[in-house]
Amino acid sequence: MSITPQPGIMDIALYVGGQSRLEGHADPLKLSSNENPYGPSPRAVAALEQSAATLHRYPSTDHADLRAAIARVHGLDADRIICGVGSDEVLQFIAQCYAGPGDEVIHTEHGFAMYPILARAAGATPVEVAERERRVDVDAILAACTAATRIIYLTNPGNPTGTMIPSSEIERLAGAIPGHVILVLDGAYVEFAQGYDGGASLVEARGNVVMTRTFSKIHGLGGLRIGWGYAPREIIDVLNRVRQPFNLSNSQLMAAEAAIRDEGFTEHCRAETARLRVWMREKLLALGIACDESHANYVLARFADEAEAAACDAALRADGILVRRVGGYGFPEGLRITVGDEPGCSRVIDAITRFKGAA
Ligand code: PMP
Repeated sequence: MSITPQPGIMDIALYVGGQSRLEGHADPLKLSSNENPYGPSPRAVAALEQSAATLHRYPSTDHADLRAAIARVHGLDADRIICGVGSDEVLQFIAQCYAGPGDEVIHTEHGFAMYPILARAAGATPVEVAERERRVDVDAILAACTAATRIIYLTNPGNPTGTMIPSSEIERLAGAIPGHVILVLDGAYVEFAQGYDGGASLVEARGNVVMTRTFSKIHGLGGLRIGWGYAPREIIDVLNRVRQPFNLSNSQLMAAEAAIRDEGFTEHCRAETARLRVWMREKLLALGIACDESHANYVLARFADEAEAAACDAALRADGILVRRVGGYGFPEGLRITVGDEPGCSRVIDAITRFKGAA
């Protein structure tokens, strides 16, 4: 007798994360996972240390302090916030609660690899919609909506493209989708985009929009796993029913609260990243490498073809630098490079310059 998993589970492609090890290099320059090169706020580290004194206590089940801090910093309603183990978990709650067998979940061509995984894990069918020139195509999404569509997952700014969907287009989409569809705006990189609230005002104005955010990127806490979502109260009530009561530890809660309160540190990371991504793009363009303007903490370098991208990746590895091949996201000719600190950015650009000189 063989033990078989639920239908669809074996169709799930395993998620491949950015590498952190490099043979022969004890401490490689890691620009492969869009991490914060400045690390977390020192206040978050201090709070993490203080949390050691609380480890015998169960954590809060309702995350009230963290939700209040997020609400204050972002000007939001704390009752519409839900916190999870990374934004991945919040994205998962949404699929678990709103999609099932026979339902369709829309994601776009260059969208985050977790969307089809979450759809399949819920028993639903992922539907991929083409993008146009590395940008989300609202009309194509609307054309793909059927009576079976339950969720649309979009990343804005996009990953790995770094491009933005204009707010007017998101509003048009939210207004035009059928009433039974939830639009999820994955804002993992929102803090790096100028003048964009991640869709928070749209969440408040409509009943069908959810925004997700993370502490993994601008707050430099990827290793601790904390994310959150902002949604209409009815949706928050639904999502909380599948959330484990102690999904976040004291350490996660205390460090995240300190991190979000340290607005000066957040602004420093944002401003440095915005400055350096412009510099990196200019250097790449000057080397004849295609690169769209980025609104996130990475740039997508597009080489002549897959062979050149692979050769450049190999050259960077030989120099002790890890970047991300993004063939799985529809860019076999691409390398996604996290915007590091100034020495990191100089080092990767110098290495690419040498590669181009030698090519
Ligand atoms: N959405 C996007 C677009 C991402 O790139 C990531 C991180 N890879 C996530 C969500 C999940 O981030 P986390 O679970 O660390 O919050």
